[in-house]
Amino acid sequence: MSITWTSIQKQRFQELNASEILQEMCFETQSERDRAYQEQEHLLVVRGKQKLQEMLETARRPPLSVLEQQLAEALTKKGFVQVVTPTIISKTALAKMSVSDDHPLFSQVFWLDSKRCLRPMLAPNLYTLWKDLLRLWEKPIRIFEIGICYRKESKGSLHLNEFTMLNLTELGLPEDQRHQRLEELAALVMDTVGIDDYQLESESSVVYGDTLDVVFKGIELGSSAMGPHPLDDQWGIFDPWVGIGFGLERLLMIKEGSQNVQSMSRSLTYLNGVRLNI
Ligand code: ATP
Ligand code: MG
Repeated sequence: MSITWTSIQKQRFQELNASEILQEMCFETQSERDRAYQEQEHLLVVRGKQKLQEMLETARRPPLSVLEQQLAEALTKKGFVQVVTPTIISKTALAKMSVSDDHPLFSQVFWLDSKRCLRPMLAPNLYTLWKDLLRLWEKPIRIFEIGICYRKESKGSLHLNEFTMLNLTELGLPEDQRHQRLEELAALVMDTVGIDDYQLESESSVVYGDTLDVVFKGIELGSSAMGPHPLDDQWGIFDPWVGIGFGLERLLMIKEGSQNVQSMSRSLTYLNGVRLNI
């Protein structure tokens, strides 16, 4: 039982989002394998066409847009206010996040010119809004954004150059409630998505120091941070806060049992998680 799929067969199965079990099958002979390939490839193509047909007849919207709406509804119901901020940000704003020349994230930034880039994260804009909203609203200030972030990544099944981040923040809560609040916010998001089998793990982040990550079978779905934090000074923020950021494509990948984030992303090759060359 030592004959495995050829690399072309393997690649096709990955494109078609075949299960891990299928991708790891072994055979006695090549002809047995090739017969199995033809059968399984056909089944996956049929399944893909069914999913596209269902999309045409029922949902009519991409899973990414549906999830975005579900999250916005769940969060506004809990008192969070949605904000929409620019995707183009200044080098100065990035530097205030400590992301400057010698920082690991710096080399991942898409620059438009010497002073402006596409945002690799939502935090600088949310920090900016916090400062004004603190004057205008009572604490705690609860805001969130769902928007595109851009990072140069070497390709892999978990990373996209453009992905959709949800960043959920609460500013001005009692300091001793921060940990519990982060757990509640993580649970709120994961319940809304429909993933219950997740863990919270301590991590150390290049931007935020020690963070609490939301993890599913070793895959990072979200990262959280809390303040007071060394960066806060730069933004004129002195109150305690918590914040948590999720990648929507990763959430969908886990929810839909798919093998890569590409199938859930902004795409010309996938629709509704289905590869279009079927
Ligand atoms: P990783 O270590 O997996 O590269 P990260 O720690 O750099 O992720 P964060 O800056 O903590 O990512 O961003 C918060 C969330 O955004 C991550 O938990 C992940 O779900 C998502 N995310 C980050 N980078 C990408 C990417 N390139 N493509 C898709 N999702 C991403
Ligand atoms: Mg992280």
